[in-house]
Amino acid sequence: MGNGYFGTRGCFEMYRADEVVHYPGTYIAGVYNELPSSVYRKTVYNNDLVNCPNWLLVELKIGKGDYIKPLEEEIISYKHDLNMKDGLMSRSLTFKDKEGRVTSVHCERIASMHNPHLGGIRYTVTPVNYSEDITLRSTLDGTVTNYGVERYRELNSKHLSPISVVRESGGISLHVRTTTSKINIAMHARHTLSSEGTGVDVQRKFEKDMGVISELMTFPAEKQKPYTLEKLVSIFTSKDPELPDDPEEVAKQAFEDIDSFEHLLSEHRRMWHKFWNRADHRIEGDRFAQKVIHLHTYHLLVTASTHNTWIDAGMPARGLHGEAYRGHIFWDELFAFPFYNLHFPEIARALLLYRYRRLDAAREYAKQSEYIGAMYPWQSADSGKEETQTMHYNPVSGQWGPDLSRNQRHVSIAIAYDIWEYFYVTNDLDFLHEYGAEMMIEITRFWASIAKYNKNDRRYHIAGVMGPDEFHEKYPNTKKGGLRDNSYTNIMVSWLMHKTVETVEYLPEEVVERLSQKIGFHVNELEKWRDMVNKMAVPITEDGIISQFDGYMELEELDWDYYREKYGDIKRLDRILKSEGDSPDRYKASKQADLLMTYYILSPGQVRNILEMMSYDVGDELELMERNYDYYVKRTSHGSTLSKVVHSAILKYLHIHKKDMWDWFLQALESDIHDTQGGTTAEAVHCGVMGGTLDILFKSFAGINIFKDYIQVEPSLPLHWKSLSFKIRLRDIWLHVEVTDRSITVRYLEGEGEKPEVLVGDDRFRIPDDGPLEIPYKEY
Ligand code: BGC
Repeated sequence: MGNGYFGTRGCFEMYRADEVVHYPGTYIAGVYNELPSSVYRKTVYNNDLVNCPNWLLVELKIGKGDYIKPLEEEIISYKHDLNMKDGLMSRSLTFKDKEGRVTSVHCERIASMHNPHLGGIRYTVTPVNYSEDITLRSTLDGTVTNYGVERYRELNSKHLSPISVVRESGGISLHVRTTTSKINIAMHARHTLSSEGTGVDVQRKFEKDMGVISELMTFPAEKQKPYTLEKLVSIFTSKDPELPDDPEEVAKQAFEDIDSFEHLLSEHRRMWHKFWNRADHRIEGDRFAQKVIHLHTYHLLVTASTHNTWIDAGMPARGLHGEAYRGHIFWDELFAFPFYNLHFPEIARALLLYRYRRLDAAREYAKQSEYIGAMYPWQSADSGKEETQTMHYNPVSGQWGPDLSRNQRHVSIAIAYDIWEYFYVTNDLDFLHEYGAEMMIEITRFWASIAKYNKNDRRYHIAGVMGPDEFHEKYPNTKKGGLRDNSYTNIMVSWLMHKTVETVEYLPEEVVERLSQKIGFHVNELEKWRDMVNKMAVPITEDGIISQFDGYMELEELDWDYYREKYGDIKRLDRILKSEGDSPDRYKASKQADLLMTYYILSPGQVRNILEMMSYDVGDELELMERNYDYYVKRTSHGSTLSKVVHSAILKYLHIHKKDMWDWFLQALESDIHDTQGGTTAEAVHCGVMGGTLDILFKSFAGINIFKDYIQVEPSLPLHWKSLSFKIRLRDIWLHVEVTDRSITVRYLEGEGEKPEVLVGDDRFRIPDDGPLEIPYKEY
């Protein structure tokens, strides 16, 4: 459950934080805390997305017995539901305890999308075959630690220090502070107990300890009668705008206009329905795909919502859902960005502003590394400094080793690309002038400074970086991290130089003037950038294979069959090889799409044009792509879910591989719902793959390509799908697009400005104001 401000896991309310399955994690966007830990006599620092106080706990006691752990009793029935349309989770459980008493519990939970500071639980208990006193103990627990990811458990994980617990007339309050980032977190809970709408005679008691407070409610329960506890909780932090110092006071006042769970739920539901109205993708003919696409949309909105316009937080790769990757922000937003951009441009803008606010930190990082401009960190959290660990734990070998993955400087390219996409889709000139252009210039400066011109081959080379493939961190038998001329990076740098030059050329004079004053920008800089467009080095073999990086072709071939036979699942081949004392650096083996990533961003025509501008003779664009696809797909283990998205998405260009396109898509869909990465979903969902599947619907299955004044539609629906439909927002216009196995229909819904035309095959059509544009298929 979540609303962009906070996320809470779907665990059972009746369990404490040391549980593994029902692990109560609550994460507030942007709340991190950095702690030192001792690892093999070394001190390492980790900045974690903090597991905030557990606001969920409701325990049950019958008569004078102990609090019951229902899942350890005899379970008669159990049902756990997520209603994505309403953003409501529910769980029903009937169990028989050791004394033969049968009890039913039904819990519903929301993280309010209407008021993101509020969460609510409606907890109904029914004594099925007995009448006895029942006690419900409802707790706010600030003693929780980050315990959600097994392999981090040896690290320091106590992020909260208790400040106060208070029993107020209307409920209970808890105030804690993160130990090093000093963020105050305040929660306040109110309880009401009723039975079928009428009040219940209840005795209330309170228990307090350091960092934890409970309200105990005891009442005489009658057989077959339902008793409902409503627990409404408010959550505030000192990071919230306008209340820096006293979140505690505000937390108490937050219920002023909400008087019941039902009230909170109805407002919350209304917001979710509004969101679905903008974001829903309808698929006819495939219930599984439909369900998972809903799930992916749901989780992306849990991670970042329209509330992010006032929250200073980026999109953690694993959402607000758990502690995997410590809640850090990587390049994964590249995959989710189109979803936000087309349905919630205000969220896309907010995610970019998270980066803008960290531009100084990125400048500083570049400077420390003796570069110019802005070098964004591979992993980012609150301050914008590099958060990538220096050591990495290998669960297969049980050993720590150096982690060189911070050399994935391509994260800056992803940010620049998102800026460009955002501007292209929204035409938000204010954003471009105020923030976007400055970021693009600074990122471009960084690439211009890291690239070195070689007079002999008259090309620019980039060394010391890694591409997206995390198996190759360095050359075999060397210690220093980084590789030379990663082709994805170098091609994208050429693209970036071109786009930044174009952007600057269109900037109004006053903006250029402001940038020259603010960041010392001078148009002379364009000269080198223009030069770099045509002179980046890209290693290409005589057979027309674009080498993943310079030297890749000299690596050994891996015996894939041997490893598959020996280990079965070899997605994380790096861990396997390292545990054998070997290293993936030695082999032509990639964790995920690297060179093929280029085709995820650029079309085969663009790739060919860029390479030709650089004077590489690469021949036919599709043949070039197909050759490279065939080459790399055999040498990739898909140890990242992102790889499946990329492989599916790019196959829209190669019609002969249509079945593979579907297979990859299906695998991408299955990533979290079937937890295909071997247990990683429990640690948190994968937002990149979730966003990527939605992007495939748009760009590949509906086949939409956005141009300045028209959209091209070239559908390629999976054969068993009957139709696919969704809304999109282009500039200020909302359109509804439906693609079926017979026709394409585009409808203008609302918005100001010139409507784009629709290009199908060679024909261009106008969208009428007052009715659908229906284009039946012909042989295009
Ligand atoms: C992938 C990266 C990704 C990261 C966070 C890694 O496994 O290789 O590309 O950014 O996970 O999702």
